[in-house]
Amino acid sequence: MPYFWGYMNAFRRQSDTCSRVCQYLASIAVLLLCGTTYAGEVSVDPPDNGIDVLQDSTLDVDSRSSETSVAAAELIDPAPAREYMGPLADAVTDAEGLAEPLEILGAEIAPGTSQRLSWSATELFEGVPVSTPVLVANGSAPGPTVCLTAAVHGDELNGIEIVRRVFHDIDPKKLSGALIGVPIVNVQGFRRGSRYLPDRRDLNRYFPGNPYGSAAARIAHSLFNEVIFKCDALIDLHTGSFERANLPQIRADLRNPDVVTLTHGFGAMVVLHSKPTIGTLRYAATIVGIPAVTVEAGGPSQLELAEVKHGVKGVETLLNTLGMTRRMRLWGDPEPVYYRSSWVRADNGGILLSDVSLGSTVRKGDVLGSITDPMSNARSELRSPYSGRIIGMARNQVVMPGFAAFHVGIETDEISASEQEIDVVKKSADGGYVDGMSE
Ligand SMILES: [Zn+2]
Repeated sequence: MPYFWGYMNAFRRQSDTCSRVCQYLASIAVLLLCGTTYAGEVSVDPPDNGIDVLQDSTLDVDSRSSETSVAAAELIDPAPAREYMGPLADAVTDAEGLAEPLEILGAEIAPGTSQRLSWSATELFEGVPVSTPVLVANGSAPGPTVCLTAAVHGDELNGIEIVRRVFHDIDPKKLSGALIGVPIVNVQGFRRGSRYLPDRRDLNRYFPGNPYGSAAARIAHSLFNEVIFKCDALIDLHTGSFERANLPQIRADLRNPDVVTLTHGFGAMVVLHSKPTIGTLRYAATIVGIPAVTVEAGGPSQLELAEVKHGVKGVETLLNTLGMTRRMRLWGDPEPVYYRSSWVRADNGGILLSDVSLGSTVRKGDVLGSITDPMSNARSELRSPYSGRIIGMARNQVVMPGFAAFHVGIETDEISASEQEIDVVKKSADGGYVDGMSE
């Protein structure tokens, strides 16, 4: 059996939770050794000015993204890379033996059945538990356990609908492996239409969590231990944030071969190389050996049908590629992989109007949009410093200087991600646009 799923299945069959807990504890020890405060003990919340998963270079000290932990992340490598041995479909269909009951959240899900469970991570102030659904489909044949999480940011609605549609289409009797879905992770934020928890903390900076930490750290710890440890692979569904929308895309650490393997399964979806930021669910899962990607689709606070369909198709194609389902058709040629990206920022304040749309192909020097001062009527243009594609952009709005308006996926020859990172740092030192490697 190829190494990737063999490794994963060994976990599941033998000492599933124990092995992962050991890795988890080891990873915390590494973090402590690095002098890094970890989830829940972050002394200062990241600035909330912006972009869901934008990550700037460490040299960009005015970092306008919410991803300010890059310096800390530099200290820690993700899980050790394992050699990629073969096509995923072959790996999974080689799964041996009979499907086993899946134990999760105190329930036992028999092979060939599905069940809706409930996960409670915290309580309201009056002691009433806050619970959120967990959907489980345990296939009648053996295979990997794939997890879908959505609304870690409570105002990101597209992922909730993606999870619903994927589960609606699954017949556990025809499934190999298991599918676990948490459609609304941040239920408190969701109820208030907010990205954050009630204390303004960003839950996606607190994984894998801490049972004695802040509310965010405790919720993260509960999800991680009760659900995420059951997963062999994780897809965390997000959208852009704060009036910004993303072209449906996979954000993945392409230095990790298992993660690369996962990205191959999605079919026609843009892939953006991005080192995971410490504290994100993607980061925490990967560091304990669960390959994880973030799927970004659309913007917050809306249900966008085209983006939802795109996400569903990507996930269903993945399940098919993994050999977990048979009936769904595979999805076309893969989209390009972007090893680099850059946010183009406003140099003036005013009214931002776009000349491009999500997915537009642009050439260096092309006008992306204009900013007009509503008082003086002075108008300036935003031009693309690179040839590439618009993979994220702000909706038309009033902006301040420095506002990140257009995210350009940059066309490059396929060279190693690590070489590109060096290039990114050099560029930022030159005072040019800083590449926004996301999440
Ligand atoms: Zn998000």
